[in-house]
Amino acid sequence: SEGSAFVVVANRLPVDRIVAEDGRTTEWRRSPGGLVTALQPVLQAAEKGTWIGWSGDSSHIDPFTLDDMRLHPIPLDDEELRNYYEGFSNASLWPLYHDAVEQPIFRRRWWTSYERVNARFAERAASVAARGAVVWVQDYQLQLVPAMLRRLRPDVRIGFFLHIPFPPVELFMQLPRRLEILHGLLGADVIGFQQPLGAQNFLRLTRHLLDMKPKGHSVMVDDREVKVESFPISIDTASVEELAASEKVTRRAKEIRAELGDPRNIILGVDRLDYTKGIEHRLKAYRELLSEGRLAVPETVMVQVATPSRERVEHYRTLRSSVEREVGRINGDFGQVGLPAIHYLHQSYDRAELAALYRVADVMVVTPLRDGMNLVAKEYVSSRPDGDGALVLSEFTGAASDLKQAYQVNPHDLDEVKAGLLRAIQAPESDRRKRMRAMRRHLRGHDVKHWARGFLTALGVPETATAYNS
Ligand code: UDP
Repeated sequence: SEGSAFVVVANRLPVDRIVAEDGRTTEWRRSPGGLVTALQPVLQAAEKGTWIGWSGDSSHIDPFTLDDMRLHPIPLDDEELRNYYEGFSNASLWPLYHDAVEQPIFRRRWWTSYERVNARFAERAASVAARGAVVWVQDYQLQLVPAMLRRLRPDVRIGFFLHIPFPPVELFMQLPRRLEILHGLLGADVIGFQQPLGAQNFLRLTRHLLDMKPKGHSVMVDDREVKVESFPISIDTASVEELAASEKVTRRAKEIRAELGDPRNIILGVDRLDYTKGIEHRLKAYRELLSEGRLAVPETVMVQVATPSRERVEHYRTLRSSVEREVGRINGDFGQVGLPAIHYLHQSYDRAELAALYRVADVMVVTPLRDGMNLVAKEYVSSRPDGDGALVLSEFTGAASDLKQAYQVNPHDLDEVKAGLLRAIQAPESDRRKRMRAMRRHLRGHDVKHWARGFLTALGVPETATAYNS
């Protein structure tokens, strides 16, 4: 069969397998992520666009078509899940790239598995790409794919985008297989980062490790130019706004406010339960404000959604215990019968329920110690058809460069987090609205399609970028 003109390679396929209505067979449903929303227009426009990714289990599944996208499932067995995914990706790279806020762990067998799985993805991409195709590789789990693919298919155009931060040279140098990773990435024609700082860190690294001499935003590898630039990712703003304003979400928002006892101030946090998110820092700030009497229950109440994540990785288990201990302590000290100080939800919610939560949150608190972007902060801003709300935002998120009118804080400075929370709670309505309006407008111009168009233009494939012009 003919190959695809446009191929996305990502750790996960943009679909989940669900049990059908008959209760026996399974079917595929598109998963809600922003990435698929961003890429679907190009996948559909390109005759036979293909997405290659892990299916979510270890069985071999034939390629199939969903919503006009060709999907190629890659199986991962349990050994690969432990070593490639939980090990090298999430216990070595993830902490290291997030400023080593937890100690990265290195194991030699994790690397072997990472290499093998990357080769599998590269081989699949090589076999489905048409002559001269565009292949766009996503994220830290697949950093070896660009060079592996180039060796197999020198005719294709290769893009790579890193969704998480890229660390400073001094930290990257800890990585036992740092040269292989660097060479892997340099197989791409464009290497995209969330922030200018990530691109700078990368360029410095090529100087330091390979003695390259970057010119502007690019380096030369043999005779090939590799562009190194930043493209801050975003949300599908129009659809987020539309959902938040829908009747269903409006009704649910009223219900939630009533269920919470119609308090004066609802403070909301929504995060994967991850140590980069600064959940403990914000809980500590909240506890101190309560104990100093500057906030009081039941006039104020906090809702913290902490979505289960990577539960077999040790760091995550430790984090869960310590967050839950702190929540228990706060409720024990400041709650009353039927009136907890924090509603803690270790659950995952769909887009509509999150939108309803965003709508009732007088203050949204986002305090990561390091975050590539943080889409939750952007979703909150675009989920306020009433034009009100207040966002407390860590300066160490990519989102902080877009959302300049947020109440920005350094999450390591407890007094500053406390002051930020109080400021957001006490700000005059006109000030809150002015800030929210500016941020909402920014997100309308800088949505996820703007991001994809920018990257594909840099890759020099305007024919794919035009999928967004309609
Ligand atoms: N999210 C969700 N259900 C939940 C919690 C989060 O669908 O219960 C979504 C949220 O709307 C956002 C994404 O997960 O789109 C989280 O992205 P973000 O960039 O904030 O953080 P990440 O989890 O990628 O580190």
